[in-house]
Amino acid sequence: MIKRKKTNIVKAGSVKIGSRYPIAIQSMTKVPTQDVARCVRQINQLVNAGCRLVRLAVPTGADTAAFAKIVRKVAVPLIADIHFSANRAIEAIEAGAAKIRLNPGNIKNKSDIYRIIDAAKMHKVALRIGVNEASIRDLKKPDIPAGKRVALMLSEMKKYVRLFEGKNFNQLVLSAKSSDTTRTIRINRLIAEKFNYPIHLGLTHAGLAKDAAIPSAVSIGTLLAEGIGDTIRISAAGSPLKEVEIAKKILVALGLHERSRPQLIVCPTCARAAGDVIKLARQVDKALTGIDKPLRIAVMGCIVNGPGEAADADLAVCAAKNKAYIYRNGRKIAIVPERKIIPELLKQLKMS
Ligand code: SF4
Repeated sequence: MIKRKKTNIVKAGSVKIGSRYPIAIQSMTKVPTQDVARCVRQINQLVNAGCRLVRLAVPTGADTAAFAKIVRKVAVPLIADIHFSANRAIEAIEAGAAKIRLNPGNIKNKSDIYRIIDAAKMHKVALRIGVNEASIRDLKKPDIPAGKRVALMLSEMKKYVRLFEGKNFNQLVLSAKSSDTTRTIRINRLIAEKFNYPIHLGLTHAGLAKDAAIPSAVSIGTLLAEGIGDTIRISAAGSPLKEVEIAKKILVALGLHERSRPQLIVCPTCARAAGDVIKLARQVDKALTGIDKPLRIAVMGCIVNGPGEAADADLAVCAAKNKAYIYRNGRKIAIVPERKIIPELLKQLKMS
């Protein structure tokens, strides 16, 4: 059981963020914000997939105008990504944003930051303040050694937090991002040690979904396992639904998210495997489509080690020559010929 690091609670619309509340999966729309219909469609798809906070980019006044329409058409809290503009932040706050994402380092005048704080206070909107490694490098010198960047990110974060606390604003979520896995872990550990604000975790520019999954799981998963992190986003190039899918898998793997569908366990196979285990696993995977029970289903290649290794599965199929042994919670319940494996499994699933 992972013990979450105690944090303050921040409200982003209907979603409460912090250690007393479930870790919220966040994603971002990837269609133009001014295309209201497509944005609403994508947001609804994300929500159905398990996303609880959705961020939209609002680079222009026309985008914040579209954002105002989108807010009225969806139920999920929306976050406005305001880039460099205090005006965009204030427009988005007035338009109904639940949270604003800003990098104070990108806003030149303190007075602009104070205007954002005043508007956020008035409308009870949360602010996520971010530092990312790329902007640190831009701010200083591009060749700053990697080892010093984490310390620099932390000192920037301290400076920003002081700025907001100086104005008695505490509805803050902190985030520090890098495209480097180990630096993401290091900076977030330091932030968690230093502050009690909720932390948003992510690895920037993680790559195509197929490449983003492992570095994201390593960095975000390591931090979550230490109890650090209250919202997460997988920054993968491609469909945002893939981001949510990866995020959910990370949370499920750590026991931080309830599974709503079966989990398929397959043995790696070895010389003992009786028959084509991969083909059987694919057939079982297909048979599980549409089943919304949080069961563990195992496909094992032999009856030598298979039953023991799958003893904690709700149902296990252990391959033997031209047949399979079916186990329920470690107990053998049937021996079926190859052609009856899937029908028998479906029958057992219905009874589960
Ligand atoms: S379950 Fe059997 S076939 Fe699969 S890896 Fe273990 S020993 Fe090999």
